[in-house]
Amino acid sequence: MSLIVQKYGGSSVANAEKILRVAQRIVRTRKAGNKVVVVVSAMGDMTDDLITLADKINKNPKEREMDMLLATGEQVSIALLAMAIHKLGYEAVSFTGPQVGIITDTFHSKAHIQDISPGRIRKALSAGKIVIVAGFQGQTLEGEITTLGRGGSDLTAVALAVALKARHCEIYTDVDGIYTADPRVIPDAGKIDIVTYDEILELASLGAKVMHSRSIEVGKKFNMPIWVCNSCKDVKGTLITKENKAMEEVVVSGVALADDEAKITLFRVADRPGVAAKVFQTLADANINVDMIIQNKTKTHSTDISFTVFKNELQKALKVVKDNAKKLGVGEVASDENIAKVSVVGIGMRSHSGIASRMFSVLAENRINIEMISTSEIKISVVVAGDKGKLAARKIHKAFGLGKKQRRSKVRVKR
Ligand code: ASP
Ligand code: MG
Repeated sequence: MSLIVQKYGGSSVANAEKILRVAQRIVRTRKAGNKVVVVVSAMGDMTDDLITLADKINKNPKEREMDMLLATGEQVSIALLAMAIHKLGYEAVSFTGPQVGIITDTFHSKAHIQDISPGRIRKALSAGKIVIVAGFQGQTLEGEITTLGRGGSDLTAVALAVALKARHCEIYTDVDGIYTADPRVIPDAGKIDIVTYDEILELASLGAKVMHSRSIEVGKKFNMPIWVCNSCKDVKGTLITKENKAMEEVVVSGVALADDEAKITLFRVADRPGVAAKVFQTLADANINVDMIIQNKTKTHSTDISFTVFKNELQKALKVVKDNAKKLGVGEVASDENIAKVSVVGIGMRSHSGIASRMFSVLAENRINIEMISTSEIKISVVVAGDKGKLAARKIHKAFGLGKKQRRSKVRVKR
């Protein structure tokens, strides 16, 4: 008998009807001869609604009380789901995170899981029960309730799969899997069959809303296969797994578009050792996240540095550099909020050449100017004018053959 961990997100359990439908899927997995552990999120937008409610009471609530409040969302869905399974004539039992020994550090609202003692889950499984666990929550060694950060149920599921040595972890959502791009931006985007942990981590950091990043990191560290599937349809989802040779044939797996960054350019920066260190230390001290950085050495004694920050931190970042301009040796500061970042990700880049030139040619053909470029081993990102972002993403997506009709999966995936 294999053990499977399934996770159902808020949209999959948004109302009574959906909970009953999820119960049927769980029972089907059980009937197929598997032991099943299910992790659920709070119903629909319940977590957001609780946050709004708290805000009406106190604009600055204590984090401990906030976690106490938010953890209730998942407690509702686990109980209802257990009842739904009982109705189908199967045995099930619901547990909160603390009840199944999910121990976290003490950082309320963004706690990290430190240990899981799955004894209670194992016992219930041995008694033939389907086990349902509240996602997104745990407790500190002192017994305080904590939450794992928004979207944290993914992390609960993968961590439990690892602790229980499950065959794999299935993440159920309301789309068919992970797409080659955001279908709202690129209607031609299609489902990816198989992808590596590294690619998903890059796509997530590039602004594609995929899965909770830490859950992918845990999956990668312990080599836990993760399936992302549609909770309403019986279609094969996306398998996130470790790299294999065949996957290198797919050069680009996905295209991401981010429009939440802004560019700051520092002109006439003193060209001597230690200046960049000081500039970025000053920004780091102010807790500002810097993404892309470009510096160009000219023949003069000064240089220009451009970098991007999140739009919501732009004003703060500008103030920090302007206030310290003299001390840092910066001549002039300018900024541009009208930018978009378009990125392509794929492990095939490691073994194929000419990906950057292909991407840049597509932009040139469409008269889109490149303002910044940055690369990693499996990613190429460009910054273009904000109003050209969508066009750039679409054209690049097509040029790399990612369209639904263009793609023929070269990799066979067995489930
Ligand atoms: N209910 C939590 C949230 O909305 C956790 C989750 O959905 O994974 O962030
Ligand atoms: Mg949620």
